[in-house]
Amino acid sequence: MAIKIQPNLLGEIEEYGAVNASACFNCGNCTAICGLVEEGGAQFPRKIIRYLQLGLKEKVLESTEPWMCYYCGECSATCPRDANPGEIMMGVRRYATAQYDVTGLSKHYYKSHKASLIGILTWFVLPIIFLIGLNLFGSAEIVTERVELNSFAPVETINTTAHIYALLIGASMIGGMYKMWRMIMNKESAPGVKISDYVSEFKTIFTKGATVKRWLDCGEEHKFRWLKHYILVLSYGTMFLLVVGFLKWFQTDEIYSITHPQRWIGYLATIGLIITTLDIIRGRMKKEAEIHKHSHHTDWVFPISILLVAITGILINIFRYSGLPWPTYIIYAIHLGVTAVMLSTEVGVGKWAHVFYRPMALYFDAVKRKAANRIAADE
Ligand code: SF4
Ligand code: SF4
Repeated sequence: MAIKIQPNLLGEIEEYGAVNASACFNCGNCTAICGLVEEGGAQFPRKIIRYLQLGLKEKVLESTEPWMCYYCGECSATCPRDANPGEIMMGVRRYATAQYDVTGLSKHYYKSHKASLIGILTWFVLPIIFLIGLNLFGSAEIVTERVELNSFAPVETINTTAHIYALLIGASMIGGMYKMWRMIMNKESAPGVKISDYVSEFKTIFTKGATVKRWLDCGEEHKFRWLKHYILVLSYGTMFLLVVGFLKWFQTDEIYSITHPQRWIGYLATIGLIITTLDIIRGRMKKEAEIHKHSHHTDWVFPISILLVAITGILINIFRYSGLPWPTYIIYAIHLGVTAVMLSTEVGVGKWAHVFYRPMALYFDAVKRKAANRIAADE
């Protein structure tokens, strides 16, 4: 098949934060220093940068290599041309995410500050308008003598809305993963793959994808970052599960004792979110570590929205336990707004998409290798 060249690929990728790929003169220092590059295996980031310079869009998109990088920043620190290869890989991941995205929103959020801002404001006000509508025209009722959160925001309605919303997000993620599969596992880039290869390598999603253990190969100094990332993922996952799966148990007007699991599970997840997101924000403000020297605007939306969700969650509890109806209801509405921002601008369309795409890329890579090894053994 003829290879299509996209002359403006470098310019396009710049809009996703990979601003200095043209400075690279392909010396290969970055690949030599990367702790994740294996002999005879992937040759990132040099090869991906070369594809960008040559305008080989399809080669970039059918490669799993952008997802092999855990952005330790070692390559950027050693690049003699200040091309910032670590950030280029990050930019390519943003670009790939936008290509997979079935909603079409991702590319606007990534490429435009204005679109991001409009997206944030829209997602923020939608749940608030919904709540106001419920109280004016629906089954909800504002009780001011005491705190009755479930009268102001009936848990059944919120629960059903959360489930519909989760289904929509899930469907868009499945659509994204399907597009990713088509780009990476096409016949030219993944020849000879059998169904049995997919079955036998399925475990990779959990053994490599969920554990993120290859990150540890970036070096001793990155182990703490790996741990912080894990705490963030666990805390976020717990909160997501509580809100989407167990809202009736979590949003209640009953005051539980401090030892009740409903309280301490929520508190632990909130503490995890606050500590890790404050650490990310501090790092990006100080710009000491290589990975924090260049921040795309979406890099800020991610930790700030999570932090706001955690803080407003705490405030709801404080006001509720203090018996203050209006502050509880107002903060609850704001909490729903920032939660919608956090989910709608991140899961599937933003930084959080890597939680799905990276394990899938590792899986596809394992399947490709398995097929290639079998073909080589047969020859
Ligand atoms: S990004 Fe830098 S280190 Fe890597 S090949 Fe290009 S010039 Fe060399
Ligand atoms: S940022 Fe780290 S993991 Fe990514 S390519 Fe550079 S050296 Fe390798």
